[in-house]
Amino acid sequence: MTGRTHDAAAITFLGAALIIYPIPSVTLATALIAILANQIGGITPDIDQPTAPFWKNLPAESFIGRIVDKLLGGHRFLTHSIIGAAAICWLAHWLLVFLHPIMPNVNISLVWWAFVIGIGSHLIMDTFTKEGVPWLLPLPVKIGLPPIKEFRITTGKAIESFIIFPGLIVLDIYLIARHYDAVLLFAHTHLLS
Ligand SMILES: [Zn+2]
Repeated sequence: MTGRTHDAAAITFLGAALIIYPIPSVTLATALIAILANQIGGITPDIDQPTAPFWKNLPAESFIGRIVDKLLGGHRFLTHSIIGAAAICWLAHWLLVFLHPIMPNVNISLVWWAFVIGIGSHLIMDTFTKEGVPWLLPLPVKIGLPPIKEFRITTGKAIESFIIFPGLIVLDIYLIARHYDAVLLFAHTHLLS
């Protein structure tokens, strides 16, 4: 899947999680940093791709990307498994605890969960692509849905661009409209007061 589809999926999963587990109150700082963490989480597994947007923004560009690619075992390997994702989430938690003193009014637990949801959404979305995802590494099995490869999505092709991506945006708009009272309440409590 492309970066923008992963971004849209991450925010959709975050919205769904908030509907299932509503949180009583958060500071505006927590909300903004949680959304940022969610978006970063949504594209983090693709740091194993030399062409990832993440690497393109660095001065040495894909050179560093290629080295990381080798270290992580190539695309769709370690960072696309439960073990790899857990390791990344552990590092993210460590980083948040380290950064907490400079952002004391941020609920780092909620920010961390937003990041975890972002990573989880990435692996779930990639599972629907032709390549599949090696969820169970070190077991060398790539899992995909549906099980028949021909029915899965090809990254960056028409189905992703014209159905999956717009579908996620429409779903987001629907979720906001459906839970508009909660969105308004949040805006009144945290943005307009
Ligand atoms: Zn991926």
